[in-house]
Amino acid sequence: MANFQTHCTVAAGASVAATAVCAEAGAVNSSQGLLLIALGVFSGILPDIDSDHSVPTRLVFNMISFGVAIGSLFALQGEVNLLYLLGISLLGALFVRYVVYIIFAGITEHRGLFHSLPAALLFGLSTVSIGIHLLAWPLRFAWLAASFVTGGYLLHLLLDEIYSVNFMGSTLKKSFGSALTLFTRSSWLAYLLLYAIVGVGFYLLPMPAYLI
Ligand SMILES: [Zn+2]
Repeated sequence: MANFQTHCTVAAGASVAATAVCAEAGAVNSSQGLLLIALGVFSGILPDIDSDHSVPTRLVFNMISFGVAIGSLFALQGEVNLLYLLGISLLGALFVRYVVYIIFAGITEHRGLFHSLPAALLFGLSTVSIGIHLLAWPLRFAWLAASFVTGGYLLHLLLDEIYSVNFMGSTLKKSFGSALTLFTRSSWLAYLLLYAIVGVGFYLLPMPAYLI
């Protein structure tokens, strides 16, 4: 299994290179480019959210709590007085950081569903959905951002697999095949559900003209 630093370095390198290609082609401006790099790096560490109490898990949950606090500030602004507003956003952030985090750590298994191809696709589709519905991104940019998310995610799974090969003795470690999973019999229902959600997502989300 590749370590945190390797994941960050490779994801950053690949995201910068892919963004440079997009910028060169005139597909993104500089702020969109920075956002794409951030998304690529974030997705490069995202799968390890399932390894309880690891650096990526804490990092991701800190970011989500921060997002919840900011989101509730914007959503309730002008609806309640300032003291309530600050109290609600603080409670929301603490709830995600401690309650949701503990539940999540309890139900997920390292290298389970989060280290699979359908999970990579699902995070990409969620990016499209959040981008067009909540952030008012142009459709084309939303799909580009999704490809960075899914691409960064898959790069992580690929690195995990590469690191399960014991180069010295050219044998395979026990972890080989547990990172880029397509399907496992033991969690067939969860996989079936995940593929169904991905299928519905592809069907419902609008596609930019060049993808149709
Ligand atoms: Zn991993």
